[in-house]
Amino acid sequence: MKDAKTRNIGLETAAPKTACTDRKCPYHGAIKVRGRIFTGTIKSDKMQNTAIVEWPVRRYNKKYERFELRRTRVKAHNPKCIDAKAGDTVRIGETRPLSKTKTFVIIERVKKAAEAA
Ligand SMILES: [Zn+2]
Repeated sequence: MKDAKTRNIGLETAAPKTACTDRKCPYHGAIKVRGRIFTGTIKSDKMQNTAIVEWPVRRYNKKYERFELRRTRVKAHNPKCIDAKAGDTVRIGETRPLSKTKTFVIIERVKKAAEAA
């Protein structure tokens, strides 16, 4: 780790106060956030440095002429400096593939689990 300073990721986010040594951290590592940004809730934080983020999607049902609520679930990298827990509301940004199934990284914690309840 040659530079422990928090990088500017080019988005208006509240940068984490603590530093980390994670290479896959957008603030302290070597990845770029580009592409789509979503806001969702952490469904699971049990994997190492990975969280499952979910958000609702409204999809039109033609037959019943109504909207149905579906869910989008993605895996997102959870750097040590953010360390989001289950129930937290987070913003995630698209990045290069970080693993076979992970192409997003958590860029900001919007709300803590206790506040969201
Ligand atoms: Zn970090």
